[in-house]
Amino acid sequence: MPPWIEPVRAALEPIGHTVGVLLVLAFVFFALAYLVKGPDKALADARAAAGETRINMILSAFDQLLVSPLVALLLAAAAGAIQSRGLHLPTASLWAKLGEWPTLFIAVFLGDFTGYWRHRLQHTPWLWPAHAIHHSDTKLTWFSLERMHPIDRLGTMLDIVVLTALGLPVWAVAANSFVRHYYGYFIHTDLPWTLGKFGLVFNSPAMHRWHHARDIEGSGANFATLFSIFDRAFGTYYQPGPGDGPLGVREDMGKGALGQYLYPFREWGRYFGDRLIISRGVPNDPAKLDPR
Ligand SMILES: [Zn+2]
Ligand SMILES: [Zn+2]
Repeated sequence: MPPWIEPVRAALEPIGHTVGVLLVLAFVFFALAYLVKGPDKALADARAAAGETRINMILSAFDQLLVSPLVALLLAAAAGAIQSRGLHLPTASLWAKLGEWPTLFIAVFLGDFTGYWRHRLQHTPWLWPAHAIHHSDTKLTWFSLERMHPIDRLGTMLDIVVLTALGLPVWAVAANSFVRHYYGYFIHTDLPWTLGKFGLVFNSPAMHRWHHARDIEGSGANFATLFSIFDRAFGTYYQPGPGDGPLGVREDMGKGALGQYLYPFREWGRYFGDRLIISRGVPNDPAKLDPR
């Protein structure tokens, strides 16, 4: 066997695993839509979302092949530095005393709390151009979670860095990412579910749909991934119903995945270009970067 076979096989194995998981999720979410909406509507919606899904597939492939490995390396380096330099809170004995399940709950709860504020930051003028890519999907489906600009993706590292700095065990930090990532697929799914009484505590597909709504009251509300309580506590909760209005953003990002990648760089370049020609009286208000 040629010597290069083994490294190639080792590199492809996690990609194969990811593709397998995504195929299972596609089946599960289509089966749910089929049961809830009926075969005709489920198929019609899937067909209508095909164009956006194609862009999401390209962005997802780029993410799996290049961005995720890079983010994993950066996270390992950041977590390693925090631990080896003792930059975390000395809470190890607390987690040992509490036990696994309470520790897991605290990790997920604090992870979602951090994610809530990180997401609010992503909606501020400077970071919005990168986050706008996630919002540009006009046919929200479970797979829209995969539509993320690499710069936006780097921002999600903050949740893990904060939990590590709080001294939470590595397994609990990883479990927080796992739970909130998979719940993220659920809240993006194209179902009119508000979760009834559970919606008092948990985020729902309907709630997140309002977050993706375009140009109407409620656009950009509902920032948390798992718990609705953070939005309720900090005044960003909005859910008058299932949310069946238009989705997406006002900006023209150009066509296809390449337009999505280049859009934030174009926006930041335009802003700094304006600064360079400020003598001509071009306004350089950073609010120009923020459409909301
Ligand atoms: Zn957002
Ligand atoms: Zn979203």
